[in-house]
Amino acid sequence: SDVIADRLNRISPSQTTAMRQRSQALKAEGKDVLAISSGEPDFDTPQHIKDAAIAAIQGNQTRYTDIAGTKALREAVARKFKRDSGLDYTAEEILVGTGGKQVIYDAMIATVNAGDEVIIPTPCWVSYPDIVGLAEGTPVLLPCGPNQGFKLLPEQLEAAITPKTKWLIVNTPSNPTGATYSAAELRGLCDVLLRHPQVHVLTDDIYEKLIYDGREFATFAQVEPKLRDRTVTMNGCSKAYAMTGWRIGFGGAPRHIIKAMDKLQGQSTSNTCSIAQAAAIAALDGPQAPTEAMRQVYEARRNRIVAALDATPHLRCHLPEGAFYAFPDLTDCIGRTTAGGTKITSDWDFVLALLSEAGVATVHGSAFLFPGHFRLSFAAADTLLDEACRRIRTFCEGLN
Ligand code: PLP
Repeated sequence: SDVIADRLNRISPSQTTAMRQRSQALKAEGKDVLAISSGEPDFDTPQHIKDAAIAAIQGNQTRYTDIAGTKALREAVARKFKRDSGLDYTAEEILVGTGGKQVIYDAMIATVNAGDEVIIPTPCWVSYPDIVGLAEGTPVLLPCGPNQGFKLLPEQLEAAITPKTKWLIVNTPSNPTGATYSAAELRGLCDVLLRHPQVHVLTDDIYEKLIYDGREFATFAQVEPKLRDRTVTMNGCSKAYAMTGWRIGFGGAPRHIIKAMDKLQGQSTSNTCSIAQAAAIAALDGPQAPTEAMRQVYEARRNRIVAALDATPHLRCHLPEGAFYAFPDLTDCIGRTTAGGTKITSDWDFVLALLSEAGVATVHGSAFLFPGHFRLSFAAADTLLDEACRRIRTFCEGLN
């Protein structure tokens, strides 16, 4: 209708929401639906973090804070960057936002002009192109399939850079594929970036702590310190500490970028919740054993479900190196007909039929700008995952 601003046309309605609505409607009808579509940890926030929040309430830490977050939290973030990645950021080079999502939003809205290009390897988290669109930038999508480990190659990056390229956004480990760049793989991308001083990097490291097979996490500014002055290193508490609802994300960046993000945040949300900030200090400075325990559970689940999916007829499942998603290839299902009589012509048909005929809610690959696949989350209990995999198998065996 007339009341809605034109800029809203630049964002797509959330496709994951469409799936959630359908699955909730089926549940309301009394159908037995297994939802493995969600992107959040199934664990509770560790007790010492909750205790810190309660203490903050009792201690009346209930007022506005600095827009960029309390000094105490920004110092804790600086310690985290130093400890985990050897990065030197001062508290003035850190901004805390309402989730990692706002940090990305701040960075793009504060720096992208109309027509600026932002390179985004796909499959990608769907918010990147939408946020870039809101900033009136042009997302430049580079398909990175399973044959290249779902990772951007240096030659692909080189070929995509133009004088208008302002940003490269990389997400490692990745939602939806779990692809995780080694230091050597980042090195190749850094070498390209060194040749193009107009290009900045936003690295979304939100799944840093969920990484498997003994891999070591690496991030751009660590691999190439010369890129530090054009890098936003984004991270947060949502995934590592099972804190999605607390809304704490943070970014480290050169002062001039942080200042611009702070200015923008000052006229949008101001600071994120003071109590959640106090809890985040406990998360970052406190014992990391609960995070490691969760990581081990995710790794065991990954092994189980990837083996089950890869053994399923008509599916192939690349091994995710991190995060908590599997992203199987379903192209061999296209053109086939389900036991219930539905002809599958796309990944959307596949996930809809899987939901209505087998009662398993997943997300189609097109939602991550990469058709021919679907995403399932293993942030769910073993029994639920096993039953979901069994149903997916029966569904796929019924295709002809
Ligand atoms: N980046 C990626 C790749 C994600 O998957 C998510 C959450 O789903 C986020 C960022 C944002 O997380 P939050 O805003 O909860 O910190």
